[in-house]
Amino acid sequence: MALIPELRALVEASNDVEITRRTFRDACVPALIERYQAGRKAELANMVAERLGRQADAHPSQELLDLAIAWFHCNQCRKYVRYPGVLAHRCQRQYCAPGSAQRDDFDDPYEYDVANASMFRAWSAKTLRPVLDEDLRAMRSIIQATGLDPESATARHMDDLDARLTCNEIPVPWARKSEGKLIMNWRRAVLSLHIIRDCETVRWVRVSGDEKRRAVPLEEKAQLQRRRSQKARNSSSVHCVTIRGGSSPVRMVMRSLWRTI
Ligand SMILES: [Zn+2]
Repeated sequence: MALIPELRALVEASNDVEITRRTFRDACVPALIERYQAGRKAELANMVAERLGRQADAHPSQELLDLAIAWFHCNQCRKYVRYPGVLAHRCQRQYCAPGSAQRDDFDDPYEYDVANASMFRAWSAKTLRPVLDEDLRAMRSIIQATGLDPESATARHMDDLDARLTCNEIPVPWARKSEGKLIMNWRRAVLSLHIIRDCETVRWVRVSGDEKRRAVPLEEKAQLQRRRSQKARNSSSVHCVTIRGGSSPVRMVMRSLWRTI
């Protein structure tokens, strides 16, 4: 919130401007936050439009981000993520351990102060790329395998189909298999693209209903294990939001906001 331009203007206002807690509360209405988030959304939608060779202005941001093909590759952890999860992805909003922020690493002194106070760097799309060139063909193949058109299929369409896919290029054992095939839903298939990136011919195929029925119990078991290990990881590495002490304007504002909302 400290990065919302209207809020920043208050923090950086000259000393003769009277600023009270009420001033901040009024400046922090949901519409402001929504507008700030809309900027990020448009930035991501533009990336998708550019990759697909479409005019960003001709489509609402949400329409582009809803496309099944609208994945973003995080060059830092080398994983694919989607909107809106990408807004909370850890590489785009990096944790900044107390005392670790170096002034030289920040072009903007205000963002440096925010990172010091909140222990997080400002969200940035610097390490994000829309579907990588080398994955575009395979990504389209995943959507086509379900019978949908990659140009218009949305993630919701794909989820509703609830199809299961297999690709003979993924070596065993990379995931749980059923009857000798690696079977997965479309989201898992996208997350597996890095495994087949160097393969010459990639063909995703939708499996039969019987094969899906055999695969689902294995999938549920794997999901349960994943959730358990995720829970264990989270309990040991969660970063609590703490507005640390100190007297910089950003810290005072953030402490005040924290009490207000
Ligand atoms: Zn990442």
